[in-house]
Amino acid sequence: MVKTETVVQAAKRQGLNKFTAVVLVLLHIAAIAALFRFSWKSLIISVIFYYICTGLGISLGYHRLHTHRSYKVPLWLEYFFALCGTLTLEGGPIFWVAVHRLHHQLSDQPGDPHSPRDGAFWSHVGWILWGETNHNNTRVMSKYAPDLAKHKFYVWLTSYHWVPNVILGAIVLALGGIDLFLWAMCLRIVFGLHATWAVNSATHMFGRRRFNIRDDSRNTWWIALISFGEGWHNNHHAHPTSARHGLAWYELDQSWLLIKALAFFGIARNVKVASVNSRIAEREAA
Ligand SMILES: [Zn+2]
Ligand SMILES: [Zn+2]
Repeated sequence: MVKTETVVQAAKRQGLNKFTAVVLVLLHIAAIAALFRFSWKSLIISVIFYYICTGLGISLGYHRLHTHRSYKVPLWLEYFFALCGTLTLEGGPIFWVAVHRLHHQLSDQPGDPHSPRDGAFWSHVGWILWGETNHNNTRVMSKYAPDLAKHKFYVWLTSYHWVPNVILGAIVLALGGIDLFLWAMCLRIVFGLHATWAVNSATHMFGRRRFNIRDDSRNTWWIALISFGEGWHNNHHAHPTSARHGLAWYELDQSWLLIKALAFFGIARNVKVASVNSRIAEREAA
């Protein structure tokens, strides 16, 4: 019988992605340096950048719109969200969506790209550091996101996902100097990476489970706070196509509030919503 390799074994065999590792180490050093160059102006601009890049780009865009199609917006806005998503340094839309769809398909089972069952460190950042570098492999990733691959803009954005960040970084450096660059580009990116990575690691380890589904997903309030509602991850795994992740009134879901506002103004349509009273837990247990 042929013994198949686990995701981790295959990645370790393929080796460390030295370029990614060097970029991440330098970014972390710059993020720590930013802490010694504090100013209120840098903090406020970084928070605004964080909302645009991680809030609009990742939570509203890559995750709830591009991956799960939990609501619809005009194409220009969809493209804008994707452009914001690249500014997080989490790769282009086709790469991100492909990895995340695989995660839902195989959650905490063999083949899940980032399950804590393979180790907490692995699920947080190990899966990015070791193995095939697919963030520029648009052709392979397109198989998992054929709907996005139909758009030339997404194909281009996936292959050249670093370009918008280089342009923004140059503008910030020119207009705001090195201190603002350290805050709005380096610290902001590092914080966003850890907030997103924590959704893969911490919300599959810590917190309550409302729905008794097959994976290890949990609702983790402190991750929800820093990730615009993405921490209600057990709700999300139970109802992947729901645009609303925080299902109870006390589960703050910033992205849902914005989707509701967009729907109010007629910009978001076909909004899918799950209810907290869903009986999926009983169905799954039966
Ligand atoms: Zn998950
Ligand atoms: Zn998801």
